[in-house]
Amino acid sequence: MNECEYSQDEIVLAKKKNEKDYRTVDVSGVKIGAGNFALIAGPCAVEEYETTLHTALEVKKAGASIFRAGAFKPRTSPYSFDGLHEEGLEILKKVKEKAGIPVACEIIDAAYLPLYDDIDVLQIGARNMQNFELLKAVGRQNKPVILKRGMSATLQELLLSAEYILVGGNPNVILCERGIRTFTCGTRNTFDVGAIPLLKTITALPVIADPSHATGRADLVESVALAAVAAGADGVMTEVHICPAASSSDACQTIDTAAFGTLSKKADKVRQALL
Ligand code: PEP
Ligand code: MN
Repeated sequence: MNECEYSQDEIVLAKKKNEKDYRTVDVSGVKIGAGNFALIAGPCAVEEYETTLHTALEVKKAGASIFRAGAFKPRTSPYSFDGLHEEGLEILKKVKEKAGIPVACEIIDAAYLPLYDDIDVLQIGARNMQNFELLKAVGRQNKPVILKRGMSATLQELLLSAEYILVGGNPNVILCERGIRTFTCGTRNTFDVGAIPLLKTITALPVIADPSHATGRADLVESVALAAVAAGADGVMTEVHICPAASSSDACQTIDTAAFGTLSKKADKVRQALL
């Protein structure tokens, strides 16, 4: 018996009702799930307006339908850059309007929710997957939520965290596999590709993949992204910057816009091959 089989009774609202039960989450007109695939791309963190806008315009041109960038970054070290905070959210709002693309942004504290009015999809990061008060707070509102798998979380725990949001009344949950911590050290985390089809046997929620935080290496992002697509992911979220080396955080795992364009084209081909 594996960890996903023995306590499915607690997976109630996230549970797949039958073979054809695949739910769609609508992010300001961009549908994810039930055959709808989306690329989410952008820098790790919001930076100054021009750079952020330039990256947003480029990723949109290359096939991204949602732009991502963090404003309040949960950093392992208190000495690392942790985002532009409120100013970052203001920049993101302007970029969204100018580039005409919905935006995803991580939220780390329920008290900040009023600041996120212009954000189209909230992200709960790996470090907050079991921040139950935050889960309850995003469950009490209707904005879609990308829920990332905690770095040492089982799929059961991920699904129970999703359940917290659903039970609060918000049906718009997208699960994200972003790698888990194992004994290996060649990559930042170990991408659990099997989690994608396995989750889809248990839950009807859309499942996306983040190959950037999974690998920590820009040169591996495309391969892992394509593996996720082949495994049935409903979307891929990648860190992209017009000049990766100049990224204010996660530079090593950030790809440039040309590499993202290639990834986008290859992802299309993989999807076509699966039809
Ligand atoms: C992020 O997407 O910027 C991020 C911090 O990811 P994770 O929570 O998966 O580490
Ligand atoms: Mn990052």
